[in-house]
Amino acid sequence: MTAAHLSLLYRGQLSSCNYDCPYCPFAKTYDSRAALRRDAQDLQRFVDWVSAQSRPISILFTPWGEGLVRRHYREAMIALSNMPQIRRVAIQTNLCVGTRWLDEANLQSLALWCTYHPGQVKRAAFLARCHELARRGVRFSVGMVAMLEHVDEIEAMRSELPEGVPLWLNAYDERPADYYTPEQVRSLEDVDPHFGFNLDPRPSLGAPCLTGESVLSVDGSGHVRRCHFVATPLGNLYDGSFEAQLRPRTCPNTRCDCYIGYSHRPDLPFQRDYADGVLERIPRKVG
Ligand code: SF4
Ligand code: SF4
Repeated sequence: MTAAHLSLLYRGQLSSCNYDCPYCPFAKTYDSRAALRRDAQDLQRFVDWVSAQSRPISILFTPWGEGLVRRHYREAMIALSNMPQIRRVAIQTNLCVGTRWLDEANLQSLALWCTYHPGQVKRAAFLARCHELARRGVRFSVGMVAMLEHVDEIEAMRSELPEGVPLWLNAYDERPADYYTPEQVRSLEDVDPHFGFNLDPRPSLGAPCLTGESVLSVDGSGHVRRCHFVATPLGNLYDGSFEAQLRPRTCPNTRCDCYIGYSHRPDLPFQRDYADGVLERIPRKVG
């Protein structure tokens, strides 16, 4: 009997980024050569482990910094996308790299979670890359941090993105109380109907959550936790000790305000509204 489907949220050691976003602790940080080498070795070990699995697996890479500027992430995405047991392999990226590397990828399983950071890249350049992804038939979402000074950018991005590409919005984390007026919230919800869940996260303590059962967080050493936000260890990927830990669980945290967390709560609409696009944040087409 084939084991049940697993979604893995992989976050290795890499924590460097070529961009300088004002809302990010990883802006313009550098990894040493040794750290990058270690990250590449860890990632290869992960890819090798996945290649030996027969169970269906989906993967989202959630690096602290930017992964696709590193060849080892591009090669891992290509290799994983071509494995028959992979349902989806996606990565969060600022889309600063070209698209030629995708020539060798299997676009049936590969997807990109792209974030547009106004101030770091010109809108026209970002959009040109989005149109190139669409021309290639790549599955991708685009998102932005909904800072009020970027409202015009959000509207422009919405109207200029290729048809069918979803634009998700995260609330600005450092906002003061009453940062958004009700009218602004409504117009942001017109762009992303699920914005309210990010702006005003539902209480999570005791809520059911698929993490720890069919969704796991994995670090570069293979340490498994249920999600990026709960520190309790659940064994290791590479010695198989995580298997005995898989079971239905409720959330031990009072608050879960990040999409890569709360989207796995079956009491919220994400499992239904995004279906097989949950990891890359692409709602299913309605109608
Ligand atoms: S692109 Fe992402 S990782 Fe890089 S500085 Fe901006 S928010 Fe941080
Ligand atoms: S609701 Fe969020 S914090 Fe709680 S277990 Fe799930 S992913 Fe983790």
